[in-house]
Parts: sequence; C-alpha cells; structure tokens
Amino acid sequence: MNQTKKIINRAKKEGRKSLLEPEAKIICAEYDIPVTKFKVASNNKEASKYANEIGYPVVLKIVSPDIIHKSEAGGVIVNLKTPPEVESAYEKILENVKKYKSDAKIVGILVQEMAPNSTEVIVGAIKDPQFGQTIMFGLGGIFVEVLKDVNFKIAPLTSTDAEDMITQLKAYPLLKGFRNTPPADIEALVSILCNVSRLVMDNPEIKELDLNPVLAYQIGAKTVDARIILE
Ligand code: ADP
Ligand code: MG
Repeated sequence: MNQTKKIINRAKKEGRKSLLEPEAKIICAEYDIPVTKFKVASNNKEASKYANEIGYPVVLKIVSPDIIHKSEAGGVIVNLKTPPEVESAYEKILENVKKYKSDAKIVGILVQEMAPNSTEVIVGAIKDPQFGQTIMFGLGGIFVEVLKDVNFKIAPLTSTDAEDMITQLKAYPLLKGFRNTPPADIEALVSILCNVSRLVMDNPEIKELDLNPVLAYQIGAKTVDARIILE
C-alpha cells in the first residue's frame, strides 16, 4: 500500500484535508477498485496529447484543492471527441473556474476516459465517532437525495454483508434489471464495497470517502469520481 500512505502523508504535510481526484483514484486503483484511466495536463496541447493516448471520447475536469464540487464551478466537460474540442474545453474550464473562484489554486486539468452511460450507484465511507468506519451504498441521483434509499454497515464488511447492502435497497429491482435497464454486475459491486472497506480499515486517517458516481454495467463497474477527506 505504498502509494496510499505516500499520498496521505504528503497531503498531511501540505495541510490539506481533501485529496485531489487523481490522488483518490490512485488510492482506489491500489485497492483494486476500478477507476477511469486519466492523466493530468498542464496546458491544452498536453491535454489533447493525453486524450489521443487515452482514446476518445474523453472528459476534462479541474484539479484544484480549492474546488470540491467540480461541476458546480463549471469544472467538468464531458464527451469531447476531437483534439480541437479538448483544447478549447481546457481553456473553457480555466475560464469558468476563474470566474467561480478567482484565487483558486490550479494543479492542472484531468483528462480522463469517458465511461459509457449506465445506472449510477454511490459508494461511501464515513468514520462514525462511535462505530468507526461505516460503509454506505445506494443508487445515484434522486434515490439518495430525495428517497434516502441507502444502506449502511459497519466495516469490516464480508462479501455477504456487501451483498445484503445491495439487495436490501428498495431500488434493488432496478439493479436486477427492469424494462430497458439491463441487470447490473452485482459481484462487481460487492467487490468494490469490500475493497472500500479494506481501504478505510487500513487507513484510519480517512474520515470520508465518496465514490460518486460509480457506473454499474452488465459486466463490471467503473468509478468516475472519487473524493477522500482526511481527519
Ligand atoms: P463533481 O461531483 O465534483 O461535480 P464529477 O467528477 O462527479 O464532478 O463529474 C460530474 C458528472 O459528470 C458525474 O456525475 C458524471 O455524470 C459525469 N462524469 C464525470 N466523469 C465522467 C467520466 N469519466 N465518464 C462519464 N461521465 C463522467
Ligand atoms: Mg461527483
């Protein structure tokens, strides 16, 4: 778990409580949690070079310790299909972010693989003062925000625990496949939950972790956004 400890220690030394998306994704990958491929660019030409390497379409995102909710700041542009589109999106994001928060420190722009559309789920962890690391699972969007259809379990999770968290959701029929929605790969989601549990148990300095969203596919799943907050 080399990279994980290194990234956490560096953030602590710099007095940062919130890890950057690329940092959180390196940690996830180290715990076998599938994440979109990415590279951090520092100018528009570099961004289109990375997009060529990653393959189109791509998504561009702001990387800044001062911007937590990236889309709120105009810091996310999806579905870019050509080098000129990537280069202008690069400049557009900088412009949006400057308008949103003129003194935001910019680390670079993340160029990442665009994950195909699918059912969005949310995986979280929160360190409860009484119960310790607690894992959360739910479906994205209105299911979490409006219906509060989420399940919690105290870590460490067994795979049976993880499966229960998924199958006991009210919205579980949607994951099982419903009308035009194909069934999601439940095993892949179980594995993400167990790996998140292992990640936060190994690293007690993590206060909050948010994989929002994770796209659930018929085969596999992919994390497109990851956030980690330290104590
Ligand atoms: P934030 O939550 O900080 O605003 P996200 O990284 O979650 O930013 O991006 C906002 C939305 O853009 C996501 O909820 C998702 O719908 C979409 N998105 C982001 N990255 C990708 C990606 N790599 N592939 C597909 N969709 C993406
Ligand atoms: Mg997000």
